[in-house]
Amino acid sequence: MSTMTVEQLREQVRGTVITAEDGGYDQARRVHNAMIDCRPRAVVRCANAGDVISTVNFARENGIDIAVRGGAHSVPGFGVCNDGVVADLSAMRSVRVDPYARTARVEGGATWSDFNAATYPFGLASTGGIISTTGVGGLTLGGGIGYLARGLGLSCDNLISADVVTADGQLLIASETQNEDLFWALRGGGGNFGAVTSFEFQLSPVKDIYGGPIFFELERAGDVLRFFREFIVDAPEQLGGFPAFQIAPPLPFIPADRHGEPFVALVACWAGPIEDGEKAVQPFRDVAPIVAEMVGPMPYPALNSAFDALVPPGLQHYWKANFNTELTDEAIDAHLIHGPKVPAVNSTVHIYPINGACHRVPADATAFAYRDATFATVIAGMWPDPADNDANVQWVRDYYAATAPHSEEGGYINFMAADDQNRIVANYKGNYDRLVDIKKKYDPDNLFHMNQNIKP
Ligand SMILES: Cc1cc2nc3c(=O)[nH]c(=O)nc-3n(C[C@H](O)[C@H](O)[C@H](O)COP(=O)(O)OP(=O)(O)OC[C@H]3O[C@@H](n4cnc5c(N)ncnc54)[C@H](O)[C@@H]3O)c2cc1C
Repeated sequence: MSTMTVEQLREQVRGTVITAEDGGYDQARRVHNAMIDCRPRAVVRCANAGDVISTVNFARENGIDIAVRGGAHSVPGFGVCNDGVVADLSAMRSVRVDPYARTARVEGGATWSDFNAATYPFGLASTGGIISTTGVGGLTLGGGIGYLARGLGLSCDNLISADVVTADGQLLIASETQNEDLFWALRGGGGNFGAVTSFEFQLSPVKDIYGGPIFFELERAGDVLRFFREFIVDAPEQLGGFPAFQIAPPLPFIPADRHGEPFVALVACWAGPIEDGEKAVQPFRDVAPIVAEMVGPMPYPALNSAFDALVPPGLQHYWKANFNTELTDEAIDAHLIHGPKVPAVNSTVHIYPINGACHRVPADATAFAYRDATFATVIAGMWPDPADNDANVQWVRDYYAATAPHSEEGGYINFMAADDQNRIVANYKGNYDRLVDIKKKYDPDNLFHMNQNIKP
């Protein structure tokens, strides 16, 4: 049997195949992180699961790399590759809500914006990320941390089933009752096990929330971080949010003469009864004198997209990540040295709480192993001008070097850089060996290796 050519692939799929000879190639090979500049042999803009199967078969038969792309937000640029093929799922983004069962069926290329827009009218939501343009696919498969995680668990904890195209070109359904080992691995194991064409999620009643950002003077950063580490341990689980180091963007709610200055912020999201919101968020307001705030009742999708403008496509990205079971005084001291040096308005450091419902899932119940971590920190370097790469990368590295000795060995894979592959075993702790066994079963030749790779 001869191997499939690009022309045969083009004939076979319903979607579009884009090569260097086609118009739109440069747009099609682009991912969110502008540092990534790869030239795939073809980008297949898949229209359905059949197209995904054809693309996987094409890669396997030709012995070339395959990158599976959902929202294209991977900082290491796992959504594209050199000389291989990209299964671009961005045209597969429908969301069907079943309000009676409180579930949503979400195609593999949907973003959280697609998800929230579809579920909000029903007064339903699930844990998604902080930014609405991030893909449901990559975020959920790596775990999924966001405003609602303390109350509803990680995104992957709300997954009921997934349709997965595996390396042999078969479509498998993974759930608690079918291909259970695959289902276990998908919940935290990243894109290692196949291309997910459709996710089924549990939804929960969340419509309007009470929340938003509150900015404090930098000299109160120690008070803010110490307050948050104590408060969040027993805070009601409907309260999400996080401390951040952030340069003030030029927004009307911030005094104009303070635009461009670094601050420490608390972002709040109360997802309980809206009339209780003001009281629930008051402890955040009481920490220190407030410089600026934009807190109030709003639709959950509004908060979920409130910071999108800070992270448009085309920025340079370099990120590092830590888990903390405890935020020690030494860890806070390290934050106080490096947080105030945040070098660009797009860059930020967020310390996400992942206790509450996330802690109630046993560490071996899903691939996501850090169920005892209280915080997941991201040091997110994002800046527009490549001429500033060295300085910005250095800020992230110095920050990470200072906090790592006071953090767990592993870090959240979705916040890690391409040079963090040596931390993957630590990230999965006691779950790693089982992940390797499942990888051997479903992808023995490591076809799906454009990810934080679990080697078979
Ligand atoms: C601006 C920004 C904000 C972020 N905020 C958060 C946040 O609040 N919480 C959080 O947890 N993470 C967050 N992240 C990290 C995010 O979870 C990861 O970058 C994630 O990989 C993005 O998924 P994606 O589908 O957009 O990316 P892609 O680049 O398309 O894919 C990333 C990885 O996931 C795999 N993948 C994606 N879709 C599928 C699929 N359908 N089937 C199989 N594999 C797939 C890819 O193969 C690749 O390995 C953020 C990232 C950015 C850039």
